[in-house]
This record gives sequence, structure tokens and C-alpha cells, in this order.
Amino acid sequence: MKLDKLRSALRKRFGDGVEAREDRGSIVLEGQLPSWEARLEAGSRAVGAGSRGVVNDIVADDCAWAASERLDSPRDPGRDEGEKGLEGLSFDVAVIGGGVVGCAVARELAKWRVSTILLEKEEDVAFHASSRNDGMIHDGFAARPGSLKAKFNILGNRLWEALAWELGIEFRRPGSIVLFRNAATQALYPAFAARAAMNHVDGWEYWSPRRVRAEEPNVCDGQHGAFFLPSAGVISPYRATVALAESAVMNGVRVELGTCVKGFEKEGDRIARVRTDRGDFRASVVVNAAGNWADVVASFADDRFFSLHQRRGTDMILDSQAGGLQRHIMAMPSIMQAKSTTKGGGLVTTVEGNILVGPTATELPGRESYATSTSELRTLERHFRINRRLLPSMAITYFAGVRACTWEEDFIIERSRRVANLVHAAGIQSPGLASAPAIAEEVARISLDVLCATMKVSPNASFVAVRDAPLELRRLSLEERAKAVSRNPSYGRIVCRCEEVSEGEIRDAMKSPLPVRSLDAVKRRARPGMGRCHGGFCTPRVMEIVADELGIGIDEVTKKGPGSRIAVGMTKSGLGEGFRG
Ligand SMILES: Cc1cc2nc3c(=O)[nH]c(=O)nc-3n(C[C@H](O)[C@H](O)[C@H](O)COP(=O)(O)OP(=O)(O)OC[C@H]3O[C@@H](n4cnc5c(N)ncnc54)[C@H](O)[C@@H]3O)c2cc1C
Repeated sequence: MKLDKLRSALRKRFGDGVEAREDRGSIVLEGQLPSWEARLEAGSRAVGAGSRGVVNDIVADDCAWAASERLDSPRDPGRDEGEKGLEGLSFDVAVIGGGVVGCAVARELAKWRVSTILLEKEEDVAFHASSRNDGMIHDGFAARPGSLKAKFNILGNRLWEALAWELGIEFRRPGSIVLFRNAATQALYPAFAARAAMNHVDGWEYWSPRRVRAEEPNVCDGQHGAFFLPSAGVISPYRATVALAESAVMNGVRVELGTCVKGFEKEGDRIARVRTDRGDFRASVVVNAAGNWADVVASFADDRFFSLHQRRGTDMILDSQAGGLQRHIMAMPSIMQAKSTTKGGGLVTTVEGNILVGPTATELPGRESYATSTSELRTLERHFRINRRLLPSMAITYFAGVRACTWEEDFIIERSRRVANLVHAAGIQSPGLASAPAIAEEVARISLDVLCATMKVSPNASFVAVRDAPLELRRLSLEERAKAVSRNPSYGRIVCRCEEVSEGEIRDAMKSPLPVRSLDAVKRRARPGMGRCHGGFCTPRVMEIVADELGIGIDEVTKKGPGSRIAVGMTKSGLGEGFRG
């Protein structure tokens, strides 16, 4: 009945361009439409017509390339094409994806005596959405009541503080101020409070205009008070992901970077073997935490009951000096945003002291397309009216990330209904970072349930929860710095002046439990190049250190793995010897 209604609605709107059919509960859309917008509209209309997800296979004429995006790991020209290090191995659990979700799942599984492998196609973890976000541990107010997003956001928010302590990373709870811009939005306070209560948010308050000004002296004039959510927190998303991965490795998880899962070999209703570009191996349980490729990974097991659409978000990073001009996370949404699929962005304080302006939310094709555009940047400017002292000229750079959205706009966290040993953590768009620890607990619980049917699973008595935080010179007192330098003189040689990062910290990063090889990977751990000059001064020196640690020529150092060499060759003969140190 619902399908008939959908078909007639689609015919009325798009003519004969689109076909809708039901496949095992999912609604599958096929055909051709002139634009990406039309494709999006068709996908949204199909929501609710089936008992499962929406699979949107419509090709949009203006973005036909999007239908044939390829899942691949960047090929290292130096790598032996025949290298098949995983061939013939066996694991209890294989986790696909080294984003915050996959790394959190791997660490959670390390609390049990099971053999776990995590596969990431890129040269580092936190390569995609998990390093391209706002780092906000959302309070849980914005998620639709009753959704998985709401449930896991609240649970994750409660877990992050203790987890961050264990991982040795910084976590702060500045709280979030949602400003009322006029009397009409102020009148929404009871509705806001009711929604917060429905979502079990940990506390909220009405702040009068005077209270807002007392707390944030630089706030704009004319505000009508605020809805304050004290539980909103912030972390460094890439450091959190790296720390989760390192903690997993320290507790016995095998992490394989530069390894792409290409398919599965099935026996009956189970995945028997995982096919990768580095060999095929057996796994008793497979976890799909593949971010923007999770629908493609699901299709490998003939379980593509949903498809993903991409929502790009652009952020502006303000210089760390701006951090002194605002204490809380602040936003000023319009009433129009009440029904939108995003939280609308704002001014987000960070643990490093910078302020993020954003993010935007634009439906664009491209699972890994991170281009920023002038029009996106323009839309960010409206957030500057929130804080009178912040200026666009404080921007040091921009970045974009891509949210992996299901058509239902909710997470999928479940054991597959068709494949007995497949667990999905898919459609993890915002607030996926905030929710990650709770998602990990649930995915690990489901995975262990599956395992228990065939083997005895017991806790890992030697699990070490606490990870020693790497030394960070800029956070030490002068006496502590002096001690560190006398222990290791390389801590006394500052390489990145903006962020005060020493040579010793860069060398430590390269020797961490998950050894790294590229400039961006070093940056995710020790932050050289993250400051105002954005690597203008320190990049050549960091390259020398990376080359020295890896025993390679400076011209072989890459920005982000295969295909991203920074130096193309030597400008003068003889220079190479010196560079090779
Ligand atoms: C602009 C922006 C701002 C955001 N802000 C916030 C925020 O403030 N708070 C919040 O809670 N959330 C936020 N989010 C959402 C958050 O970033 C994501 O929910 C989260 O990072 C998703 O993590 P993930 O591990 O599922 O995906 P990812 O980080 O994308 O990781 C998936 C990984 O799987 C790998 N992979 C895929 N296929 C394969 C394969 N076949 N083989 C091997 N590896 C594979 C990919 O290379 C990738 O590294 C934001 C998102 C964006 C884009």
C-alpha cells in the first residue's frame, strides 16, 4: 500500500524517470534524474515506505560519476604488489574501518580474550570523518527523540570523560549556549526543555540575557537569553581516535593500515573469509565500521538494505588567540532550523584553544570529497555575529568533512538480519564522535554474543585501560620542561614555533604503538604545523626528522601516504646527501 502511494507520488513528481520496488523490506529506487537535488528529493520521499532502509540507486545526470566511485586504498608505488601478509590467517573478529567507531570497537573487544584485527585502507587511522569534525561531545539535545542517535549520544557523552582520562587525552565540558535571537525563539524555551527531558539530557537551564552577558562578555547585543546545556564537551577527535587505536594495539589488537577490504567469501549465511588487497583471511565475526563506504561493504555480503548519501560540512579554524575571547560553545539557530537535519553550526571552542566556526551542511556527492568553496565559507560568516570580538581575519585555515547519512537520518547499529556473523555500525553521521564509546560497547556486546555461539569467551585479565599520554612540552611548567630536556635534549629543540612542538615529541610520535610514516600522521599526534603559519616554517624540518626516523630520503617523505610526496626532487646536486643526514 505504502509502496503504491510512493510510486504514484514519484510518478507525479518525476514522471517515468524513477522506479520504486521492494527488496526484502527495503525500498530500492532506480532510474535516472537530471540533478543531484532531484535524486535527494526522491530518496527522502521513499523514507517510511518500506520496513527497512532506502536504497537509492538513481543516477543523477549532473553527477553521474558519483554512481561509480571506487573503493580502493592508495597504492604505494614502492609496495610489492604481491605482498599478501594476511593470507591464510584467522581472527575471531575483523573490524573494517579505522575511524573513531572502528577504533573504539577494537579497544572494547580488547577487554576480552578474542583475537581482533582492524583494517584501515588509508595510511593512518582518523583519516576521514573522524579527523574532519568539530570535536564536540554533544549534549544529546538536538537528536530526534526516540532515535538511536539520541540514545547513543547521551550514553556516549556520559562515557567520554572517564574514557578520555584513561586514554590520556584532554576532555573539557565547557557547556553549550543556544542563544535566543528574539522573543519568538525565547518563547520556545518550554519546548526545548521538553525535548531535552525526552532525550534524557544531563541538565539544562534558562539563562537570562544578563546571565549570558556575565558568562560571555563578548556576546552580541540584542540576545534574548539562552538555553544552556552544561553537559556539552569537547575533545580532539583525531587524538581521541589515535589514542583508542594505540590502546587497542597495546592490548593485543592487530591494526593493519593501508589494507582495503575488497569483498567477502560466504558459506551459507555466514562470511567465511574476508578478501583484502593484502590477502584473504578467516574471521568469525565481521564489524562494518566503514564510514562513508559502509553501504558498499554491506553489499559485499549481499546485505545492502540501506544506502548512504553524503552531507559535506565546512569549518573555519580561528587562531588559538581567539580562544581567550569565548569560554562556552555558542550557537544562535533560527526557527527555520527546527526541522533541519543538522544542528546548524556555531562557534565551537576546542581543547587546543582555537575556535571552530561551523560546520556547514550541504548535500553534495563524493564520499571523500573535501573541497571547500567560497559560497560555503560565506555561509559561515553569519556565526561571527554571535561574538563581537571574533573576526573572519582570525581564520588560519578551513577544512571540510563528509557525513555518512542514511535516508532515515539515523544510525544503524545491529547484527545483520541476513548474514549471521556481520555487525553493522553504519550511517554514523553526527553525533558519531560523541556516541562512539557507547556504539563500541553495543557493537562489542553483539559481536561477543555471536562468538559465544561457537567458542567460550572470557574477559582479558591483562587488559590495561590506562594509556600513558605522550609528553607535550607546551603543557609543562618551566621546571618540568627543564627536567624533560636534561633527560632527552631533543625536547629542547623547538621545531614548530606556533604550537611549541619539539623534535623529541615528533620522534616520540613516530615510535608510538601505531608507528606512522607521513607528515599528516605526525601532525595528528604531535601537532607540528597546526598553528598560525600552518607549517610554513616547520615543514622542511619535520620532513628531515621523518626521513631520519624512517631511514628514507627526504624526497620520499609523503604528506598523507602513497601518492602525496612533498618534494619532487633535488634542486642542486649534492643537496641530497645532506638531507639524508
Ligand atoms: C564537518 C563535520 C563535523 C562533525 N562534527 C561532529 C561533532 O562535533 N561531534 C560529533 O559527535 N560528530 C561530529 N561529526 C560526525 C563524526 O565525525 C562522525 O560521526 C564520525 O567521525 C564517524 O566515524 P566512523 O568511524 O564511523 O567513520 P570514519 O571516520 O569515516 O571512518 C571510517 C573508516 O573506514 C575506512 N574504510 C572504509 N571502507 C574500508 C574498506 N573497505 N577497507 C578498509 N577500510 C575502509 C575509511 O578509510 C575510514 O577511515 C561531524 C562530521 C562532519 C563531517
